[in-house]
Amino acid sequence: MNILLLGPQGSGKGTQAKRIREEYGLAHVSTGDMFRAAIARRTPLGLEVEPILARGALVPDPLTIGLMRERLAEEDATAGFILDGFPRNAAQAEALDELLSELARPLDVVFEFQIADDVCIERMLKRARAEGRPDDTPEAIGTRLAIYHSETAPLVEHYRTTGKLVGVHADREIGAVWAEIQSALEQVHVA
Ligand code: ADP
Repeated sequence: MNILLLGPQGSGKGTQAKRIREEYGLAHVSTGDMFRAAIARRTPLGLEVEPILARGALVPDPLTIGLMRERLAEEDATAGFILDGFPRNAAQAEALDELLSELARPLDVVFEFQIADDVCIERMLKRARAEGRPDDTPEAIGTRLAIYHSETAPLVEHYRTTGKLVGVHADREIGAVWAEIQSALEQVHVA
């Protein structure tokens, strides 16, 4: 099963992705986590993207698409994957369509996490206090949400045409969101 999670920053995609991974044994593919791991290891990629992440801007498409291409070729992704944080703009969505058709591994379901910005901002500021993520500052949060609305949210229409789109009420507690996701996944599973 191949799953795509779409939704703004702070909507809970990462939290739900981990649950899906545990329950269904799929690879959790998060571009943000991959970039943060590269930064922590001080690799050339990490050094290049560190200031971009800190600002809340998007990493250039060639780097991001190249990273995704390599990641989806890894062994653990062959059993199925959860994409979290990719694609984030039209060029990435187009590259993903091509890549998945090359690999003959189409998406089974696309979840759209629906939630208001003020709730997301509140969650990110709380996370900043708990985890100290460098891009959870008010400035970077503003940049990230603005990019989400201008570049990423329009992808919902692209995926709506595939008939795979499922809306999720993300402004609720973790267990309630999980229940909604799980019942949608059970339907895909038996279909
Ligand atoms: P959030 O969604 O809360 O911003 P992520 O962990 O998904 O958190 O992403 C963190 C940062 O990593 C983004 O602000 C961006 O700089 C970079 N990034 C992640 N995914 C992509 C992508 N698909 N394209 C470009 N940059 C990305």
